[in-house]
Amino acid sequence: MRAVVYRGPNDLRLETVPVPRIGRHELLVRVAVCGVCPTDIKKIHHGTVPPPRIFGHETAGTIVKVGPSPSPFKPGDRVALHHHVPCLDCHFCRHHAYAQCATYKRTGITAGFEPAGGGYAEYVRVMPFVLPGVVKIPAGNTFEEGALLEPVNTVLKAVRRLALLPGDIVLVAGQGPIGLMFTRLLQLAGMNVVATDLLDPRLKLAKKFGARWTLNVQSPKSEAQSPAAPAASSDPMPPEVVGGIFVPQTSKSAVSRVSQPAGRRPNGPARPTLPTTSESMASDPESILRRLTRQRGLDAAIIAVPSDDAVRQAQGWLRGGGQLMLFAHTKRGAAAPLDLAAVCVDEKDLLGSYSSDFTLQKEVARLVFRRQLDVRPLITHRFPLAETAAAVELAAHPTTDSLKILVTQPPG
Ligand SMILES: [Zn+2]
Ligand SMILES: [Zn+2]
Repeated sequence: MRAVVYRGPNDLRLETVPVPRIGRHELLVRVAVCGVCPTDIKKIHHGTVPPPRIFGHETAGTIVKVGPSPSPFKPGDRVALHHHVPCLDCHFCRHHAYAQCATYKRTGITAGFEPAGGGYAEYVRVMPFVLPGVVKIPAGNTFEEGALLEPVNTVLKAVRRLALLPGDIVLVAGQGPIGLMFTRLLQLAGMNVVATDLLDPRLKLAKKFGARWTLNVQSPKSEAQSPAAPAASSDPMPPEVVGGIFVPQTSKSAVSRVSQPAGRRPNGPARPTLPTTSESMASDPESILRRLTRQRGLDAAIIAVPSDDAVRQAQGWLRGGGQLMLFAHTKRGAAAPLDLAAVCVDEKDLLGSYSSDFTLQKEVARLVFRRQLDVRPLITHRFPLAETAAAVELAAHPTTDSLKILVTQPPG
């Protein structure tokens, strides 16, 4: 079969490798779609793991073979795969720290070599310990939606780590695919989201995804450009966002009309009356945020871009006892001086969240397949398997119009 093999930093090659052999309790899946994920890009660019490997872990496809043992699955089933499943039994799992569990850290899906997801290949082998994470895709949904369960799961897990009350005001810094998922899931949970980005098309989408306000933040000159924080485009901006203007989200947005699932509608106190006029943010975002939050400061801020300045800024904008969530700071060794008294004295919690929580998978599948979180508008580019390297390159250097990038394969 064809597979894209990682042979070293920035070296992805289309090769012919054997179709994986499966054993008892295992599945062989023909890959239809695999999402390009920033964590794989990091490994490919920085060579943080030894080659050879076949990456790609946001995978959906069709089961073509089931190992010789009783199984709830059969050939022909359309499935979304989940490459990390915890043991639910160890010290870490008892503390709900699934991403630190040794079983969880093993990758249970492979197309050959050291297991690394395998989604950039025609077929993958699904090992028994990740079978609990396999989800059947309903007839009315696409493989593409199935492939996005994994990133949505990581976002829902992070949202669940926050201590929020309905009506709280939460900043989501960065409106790439992950930031937009945060915006929507927080809105569904009854939060008022302030969405920031450098690209206006993303901010427009953020409003459709439920942001109450959007803000184009200018890139600080000192900030190195990073994959998820591309420079502001030179495209002409619509007048209402030039210079960074707060645009209030009206209640008539498409997303607001989407019905919410029973039991998830916020039952808290009525939302506070918030300023509704456009505000210039270019000069003094802090004073605007103070006014929006009635001088209190933000209840939480989610940093979905690997920008240290965004972290420092957001920490300053939090209220006492607020929460700062790091979601994109996956590169080790960076020194990012923070005001630690803000953590100690002001009780501003510093949190991180990484990877998925398998126990949320049913809920994630409901949100995506019922399209309460409609992931389809997030998908902007599709590449054939042979062009996986180009897909990774585009994902690493997003353009004004690129969001989620997929590697797709025709049914064989
Ligand atoms: Zn991923
Ligand atoms: Zn465990």
